[in-house]
Amino acid sequence: MSGFDHICLIFRTMENKDWSLPEKSSAKRLKYLIQCPVCWEYMTDKINLCVSGHSICFSCTTRITACPLCRKQVSPWSRNYFAEGIIGESTFSCKFSKNGCPAVLEGHEYNIHTKYCKFGQ
Ligand SMILES: [Zn+2]
Ligand SMILES: [Zn+2]
Ligand SMILES: [Zn+2]
Repeated sequence: MSGFDHICLIFRTMENKDWSLPEKSSAKRLKYLIQCPVCWEYMTDKINLCVSGHSICFSCTTRITACPLCRKQVSPWSRNYFAEGIIGESTFSCKFSKNGCPAVLEGHEYNIHTKYCKFGQ
């Protein structure tokens, strides 16, 4: 093995040891996780669970009887308090940002803002 190949191998080994994801892709993944699988809105209000543990937003829970992911029962009395807490403290850009809304909101302000957002009319 030449010295150059050896150095390349070291670099490759270092790459493999790097477990941290680039920030962009983890943020994207997080956004996917906090979207309701029924309405694809961010679950910034109450979050309910199906019997398998999938999260579904409260307004969808009142309209559906089966989880879209596993077809099992959704129980309006089981709540995902953990996700609710994390989402409540996270920040989101308004869903009307493509219409020009510059607002960045915490999860607990999000529903009220998007309801009255003047860019959403
Ligand atoms: Zn929903
Ligand atoms: Zn499910
Ligand atoms: Zn807005």
